[in-house]
Amino acid sequence: MSRPVLFALDDDADVVRTLRGDLSRRFRRDFRVLGESSAIAGLATLGQLAGQGEPVALLIADHQMSEMPGLEFLARAHELHPSAKRVLLVERDYSVRSPVVQAMTLGQADYHLSKPWMLEQDLYLAVSGFLAEWAKDQDAGFDLFHVIGRLQDRGTNELRELLIRFSVPFRFTAADSQPGRRLLQDKGLDPARLPVMIRHDGHTMVEPTPAQIVEAVGGTTHSDLSQCDVAVVGAGPAGLAAAVYAASEGLQTVVLEETVSGGQAGSSPMIRNYPGFAHGISGHDLTRRACEQAWMFGAHMVFSQPIAGLSCRGPDRVVHLADGHDITARAVIVATGIAWRSLGVPRLEALVGSGVFYGAAGSETRAMEGREVFVVGAGNSAGQAALHLARHARHVTLVVRGDNLPHSMSDYLIKEIGATPAITVRLETEVIDGHGGERLDGLTLRDKRSGRAERVPADALFVLIGGEPRTDWLPKAVQLEGGYILTGRDIVRDASHPSRWPLDRAPLPLETSVPGVFAAGDVRYRSIKRVASAVGDGSTAVRVAHEYLAAEPGRAGPANR
Ligand SMILES: Cc1cc2nc3c(=O)[nH]c(=O)nc-3n(C[C@H](O)[C@H](O)[C@H](O)COP(=O)(O)OP(=O)(O)OC[C@H]3O[C@@H](n4cnc5c(N)ncnc54)[C@H](O)[C@@H]3O)c2cc1C
Repeated sequence: MSRPVLFALDDDADVVRTLRGDLSRRFRRDFRVLGESSAIAGLATLGQLAGQGEPVALLIADHQMSEMPGLEFLARAHELHPSAKRVLLVERDYSVRSPVVQAMTLGQADYHLSKPWMLEQDLYLAVSGFLAEWAKDQDAGFDLFHVIGRLQDRGTNELRELLIRFSVPFRFTAADSQPGRRLLQDKGLDPARLPVMIRHDGHTMVEPTPAQIVEAVGGTTHSDLSQCDVAVVGAGPAGLAAAVYAASEGLQTVVLEETVSGGQAGSSPMIRNYPGFAHGISGHDLTRRACEQAWMFGAHMVFSQPIAGLSCRGPDRVVHLADGHDITARAVIVATGIAWRSLGVPRLEALVGSGVFYGAAGSETRAMEGREVFVVGAGNSAGQAALHLARHARHVTLVVRGDNLPHSMSDYLIKEIGATPAITVRLETEVIDGHGGERLDGLTLRDKRSGRAERVPADALFVLIGGEPRTDWLPKAVQLEGGYILTGRDIVRDASHPSRWPLDRAPLPLETSVPGVFAAGDVRYRSIKRVASAVGDGSTAVRVAHEYLAAEPGRAGPANR
């Protein structure tokens, strides 16, 4: 197959010539750069390329063209080359009138470029980013692991999820397919014991545990330290930010995470409101970078290690690992976030991982190609999930219990959903039952107004109905409100109550009712449930922990034992 194409279109032939020249200088080894100055001619060229099976990576089109608007061209060209990334070329205009604002909001373009581009380096940096995202969607050339399993098995889905969360390239073969059966037979493996994970060097793991998977991809599941300055519990955005700041400021830091890093944000397909990423960033990418950064600063990252308890031993705080080990820390930052609230329908709970998913679609999205998909929820995460799924699914139904969306969802998402024909919103509707033996094949929905129940075919259900704070492991001395951790001025001061604040000084901001234990991110009472807020909390908690360590008797500074 020939090199993928970067295609540029502008009414102005000079712009096309310049763009082709600039892009060719940098990308010609790997891509062919083509261009046209007529939309009709452009569609004809792209049609020919599609007919010959030639891949197109980027479609760059000027917003204002005489034959047809740039967005219409992008939509028609995208039908010919659905995997191409769409780039809108616009005049420099940083007002809200810029067509980019609406195009991005309505999902009509993936990126934009401004013309004239000032420096070639700026153009290269931007286009390299677009191409990296395009390349990620293509099949990887090298697979570190080969996974054989059943799609409807929870174990198989957990394994795939873990590999995706760790960015490990892998190939999946269904165990009941002919190649799957042959592979199992050739290796002498029992088809009843699935999933199987075969490393590129032949090393084979049957029914691997999460810890074995983490170890196999280079992660650590045991802390080599039993004492540290700061123990961070949870590796979502708040915990990762705390780890970056604590480790970079010279505190010996251990991060303890129940699964793998990323938290809720790690499962978000696209975070569009994190500062610095104008075109958005996948939550997985954002948190993977933060995790690597924490590790580069020297934080000890421990995965697949749930924390079962916390206690005080003199001035030390002790975190109790579920495997029986303890880690003694001078300060603890709790960043355990929230867990998704359950629908409470037993038949659906039994199908979790087999057509029913809690949280946004990440790894599952592409598997929804041509499927009938339902999303339950009315918040921003439900809206984002519906939009993301609608790119692949045949149809997406957003099931909302209340009688309106504006109450709980941002206006830009409501508009985007309204402009997406593949999404239907069903207000005042509840999911009351699920159907299917080994995997979901239908749902029963109830219209709250009429009381009428209706059974509908469904291939997948994504549940995004908010969550419960992950605080059940904490001792009673940590004051909670509705399950969320109270901090700072919210702590109830009452000397007659044993679990109340014990010191003469006021609690520090983000300090819990146990001195030296801080809370950050979604788990904190009255926190703002956003990635950036969690990151802010994590970094602030470190600043405050410094203050605590410096002020406590016998505490002089980092690692002064
Ligand atoms: C689908 C989805 C889309 C979202 N989209 C956006 C968005 O576009 N923009 C935005 O700003 N926000 C978004 N959010 C919200 C955002 O992801 C959260 O506010 C943010 O992740 C909170 O970070 P956190 O670190 O406090 O908690 P979490 O991300 O929940 O991380 C907590 C971590 O702690 C771990 N943990 C829990 N208990 C234990 C234990 N006992 N021991 C060890 N580890 C434990 C968990 O495994 C988890 O990794 C979205 C959320 C979801 C679910």
